[in-house]
Amino acid sequence: MTPDLDIAVIGSGLAGLAAAHELRRNGHEVCVFEAADAPGGRMRSVRRDGYTIDTGAEQISAQGYRATWQLIRRAGLTPHDVPRIGRPMAVWRGGRPHNGVGEPRAVLTGAGLVPAARPSLARFLAWSGRRRAEIDHDHPETTPLGSDTVADAARAYHPDLHDHLLQPLSSAFFGWDAGRSAAAPLVGLLLAVGPVSAWRTYRGGMDLLATRLAAGLDTRYGRRVDEVTDHGDHARLTVDGTTLTARAVVLAVPAPVALKLTGGPHPADAGYVAASTFRPMFKVSCALDRPLAPRGGGYALLTPAVEEPLLSCVIADHLKCADRAPAGAGLISLLASPRHLPELAAGTEEEAARRLTAAAERYVPGLGAALTATHVHHWPEAMPELTPRALAVRAAFLRRPARAVEYAGDWVAARPSSEGAARSGALAAARVLAHLAPHRGRTAPQETAA
Ligand SMILES: Cc1cc2nc3c(=O)[nH]c(=O)nc-3n(C[C@H](O)[C@H](O)[C@H](O)COP(=O)(O)OP(=O)(O)OC[C@H]3O[C@@H](n4cnc5c(N)ncnc54)[C@H](O)[C@@H]3O)c2cc1C
Repeated sequence: MTPDLDIAVIGSGLAGLAAAHELRRNGHEVCVFEAADAPGGRMRSVRRDGYTIDTGAEQISAQGYRATWQLIRRAGLTPHDVPRIGRPMAVWRGGRPHNGVGEPRAVLTGAGLVPAARPSLARFLAWSGRRRAEIDHDHPETTPLGSDTVADAARAYHPDLHDHLLQPLSSAFFGWDAGRSAAAPLVGLLLAVGPVSAWRTYRGGMDLLATRLAAGLDTRYGRRVDEVTDHGDHARLTVDGTTLTARAVVLAVPAPVALKLTGGPHPADAGYVAASTFRPMFKVSCALDRPLAPRGGGYALLTPAVEEPLLSCVIADHLKCADRAPAGAGLISLLASPRHLPELAAGTEEEAARRLTAAAERYVPGLGAALTATHVHHWPEAMPELTPRALAVRAAFLRRPARAVEYAGDWVAARPSSEGAARSGALAAARVLAHLAPHRGRTAPQETAA
């Protein structure tokens, strides 16, 4: 039988695009099916009235994003296209912001931790530094943190470490509940990405890399795939009611979507796919007629759950990169606290925007008066939750033989970041190549050297 397609990739997020790009580099014909009308997935940016709004991801780092930087170079982009943010991150405590979160000098300045908690931070950093080699970010399931959740791991330290550092970071950036998600991926990520001073963002919008990669590929937008099945030597996919065959399919979608599309994956894959639950996130982008900043002047202000019920973070997009707002204007993003997501999601977008902007007035005085428009981005599947239960079944998933239906996505890499997506795409491509190789049965790659 001659399949209709050589290789089909479902999803044009960074994982799907990385997989497609790598497979094309290896001489394959790749067709990318994307349900939305543009590439990028959770890294998409939209343009409205002169504002460039990052709907999901905000930044990457100069460190710990090896696969991403390789893609950046291959897409013909340079570090100039990914400028340094160069502004501090603060945490709110006791009615004011404290700058320097995520910087080594926080051990001295506290960055929102009381003096009694600073030795705890030093001990935590010394411990993670000493065990750096064992805290393998590609294999959080094997680290010395075992099955500890973020809250469990924090218990060995002064309570401030949880309340004013780990909880706000994991809630603002991953939408996590510190009592449910595993500590190992968080600690691995913090070690990998380095200080906030190393963080960068894409010029012209977070979708820059995705747009560049998609332009060089056969990407079909507005094409929602409804079903994918594995038939051993080929796969079938149903797109808008039409069934197509392909030599291989890469499912580059969040795990809960992959679970639905396959109608129950291969038994060897099912454990990790089903255990890979996701957390929702809710972001309101506020277009302002003037360039207001969060108090303290940093580009990001964490608002811990012990200090603020409704918000987890305030980001000044125009301070992150000046091109996000027209000259003389500003763009502020408000991230909702995970605890309030169900009720925010149940109401109207207008009501959610009204509540979050009212709460943000405390951190960005004058926000209400400067507001010209709000844009609500609700991500039901924003971030892999990476619970200890999911990590416990990951090793078996990585050992599975390569098949006609492969998976890619940040959840596969167990890294809640676009770097996880990029790495998983390269890994999925390597596994597809192993599956299609003439000498079948050779060991499937378990990680990529991208
Ligand atoms: C609010 C937020 C903030 C974040 N901040 C950061 C950050 O600062 N830095 C960072 O590195 N990461 C961040 N992330 C995470 C990062 O965005 C993701 O890890 C990464 O983009 C995931 O890429 P992916 O390709 O795995 O999945 P996705 O980007 O979700 O791509 C999946 C694609 O599949 C498509 N699709 C789904 N179902 C179908 C179907 N049935 N048929 C066809 N197409 C389909 C979707 O439309 C989507 O385009 C953030 C995420 C969110 C939500």
